[in-house]
Amino acid sequence: MSIYDVTIIGSGPGGYVAAIRCAQLGLKTAIIEKYNTLGGTCLNVGCIPSKALLDSSHHYYDATHHFEKHGINADGIKVNFKQMIDRKNEVVSQTCAGIDFLMKKNEIDVYTGFGSFKDATHINITNKSKVTTIESKNTIIATGSKPSTLPFIKLDKKRVITSTEALSLKEIPKHLLVIGGGVIGLELGQVYSRLGAQVSVIEYMPKIIPTMDGMLSKELQKSLKKQGIKFYTSHKVTAVNTSEKEVTITADDKKGNPVEFKGDYCLVSVGRRPYTDKLGLENAGVKLTDRGQIETNDQLQTNISNIYAIGDVVKGAMLAHKASEEGECVAEIIAGQKPHIDYNLIPGVVYTWPEVAAVGKTEEQLKEAGVNYKVGSFPMRALGRARASMDIEGQIKVLADANTDEIIGMHMIGARAADMIAEAVIAMEFRASSEDVARSSHAHPTFTEAIKEACMAVDGRAIHS
Ligand code: FAD
Ligand code: NAD
Repeated sequence: MSIYDVTIIGSGPGGYVAAIRCAQLGLKTAIIEKYNTLGGTCLNVGCIPSKALLDSSHHYYDATHHFEKHGINADGIKVNFKQMIDRKNEVVSQTCAGIDFLMKKNEIDVYTGFGSFKDATHINITNKSKVTTIESKNTIIATGSKPSTLPFIKLDKKRVITSTEALSLKEIPKHLLVIGGGVIGLELGQVYSRLGAQVSVIEYMPKIIPTMDGMLSKELQKSLKKQGIKFYTSHKVTAVNTSEKEVTITADDKKGNPVEFKGDYCLVSVGRRPYTDKLGLENAGVKLTDRGQIETNDQLQTNISNIYAIGDVVKGAMLAHKASEEGECVAEIIAGQKPHIDYNLIPGVVYTWPEVAAVGKTEEQLKEAGVNYKVGSFPMRALGRARASMDIEGQIKVLADANTDEIIGMHMIGARAADMIAEAVIAMEFRASSEDVARSSHAHPTFTEAIKEACMAVDGRAIHS
């Protein structure tokens, strides 16, 4: 029987990163993945394919809406949807192959099969009918998550679909009904809206992306509405019925009156649930929380001392970079180091256009906590760079402690916000004040000048607004 220092169950951005870091630290490492490709949700049916389709559809939207103004005649541009999906699949294959290479390079043993605990130090790997058992001193559970649904919805995966099917449709929907105005609903909603579908987003809460700062929800909804997406907030879906080619959603509107929506596809994007099915946790004695997550302490350790858990299967934001941070962190803990993650500084990004990105506290959270804070905002339209590229929508908002001037939150919507948020994360990691950032030189003309200006605005001295 093979014996390992560490075995990781699940090869998503949590699991494969943990495996590499364990190997780098000299630990004999194995990784188990039930699918034939490594990379988990993120690489196969999540971050990477969704961004590939967002980028392709963005090119089409620009060509049909903005090229003329730039002086480029692009008459007769058409979508080849099959090619768009094929290209997305190629991007996924190349990215997954990269993980195979990294496993080999780091001498990590890869087991393809379904991992389940026999006991706290032995894991069975089932592939078809063959069972292989390995022994492991430590195990990291990185089994991720699956889409959630509502109790009365039957996901037939043909007309009533999750993000996984929405990434591989055979045709562009005529009318895509989206239940849930969160990250998946808006990103994939925008893909199909740009490709010509009518898109209606039905959201239970009074605002879209409800956990983000209110300014972002408002600005994003305004912008997507202008692009043609329809929003029905404060709507409670009560039934979803399908016929061969049609989906009917019934919902209660703000006043409690029933309303009906008809479309040809319905994307259910109401969140994801931790995935621990058939993992044999009871054989190892590992406890779950009442929300179905694996219970961990602040060392990512479960109630069984040699078993750890990371990523979507534990508490916290369901984000690839959060899973990866935890993967590195747990490897270092097992190797005897003392790493630390500041969860307040895990950025959140929505890859719509305009992009939305945030880190730290929202204004709503500061108000609720009674924190005394200052605000500085700067509109993108005041930037020369934004006018040059015709990306004038959005703004950046900086929240700083009223007493110390330390930046405690940054919220941005606009072109390239997904990349720009890194500056806010670094500034906050080093506990910068808004004045520190305001006094740092930012190249001109760039979108990042909006960060400097917003920080200057905290002190009422923005130059260009
Ligand atoms: P996963 O990536 O889910 O990987 C878990 C792996 O474990 C899977 O491969 C699974 O097959 C395997 N597994 C499970 N059980 C077993 C078992 N018993 N035996 C063997 N293998 C097992 N996040 C971002 O940060 N940015 C984005 O842009 C982004 N876009 C997304 C878009 C979509 C459409 C979706 C659905 C998600 C997106 N996410 C994004 C979220 C991101 O994909 C997840 O947060 C991330 O993949 C979680 O990583 P993980 O390693 O915890 O789990
Ligand atoms: P989400 O939590 O982002 O959004 C779910 C939305 O559905 C919320 O707005 C919620 O209020 C709404 N909702 C819940 N129940 C509802 C109901 N009964 N009727 C109508 N609306 C309802 O979840 P998601 O969009 O499904 O994404 C799942 C996870 O994947 C998220 O945690 C997200 O972090 C991750 N993800 C991240 C990215 C990214 O980082 N860019 C992209 C896609 C997915």
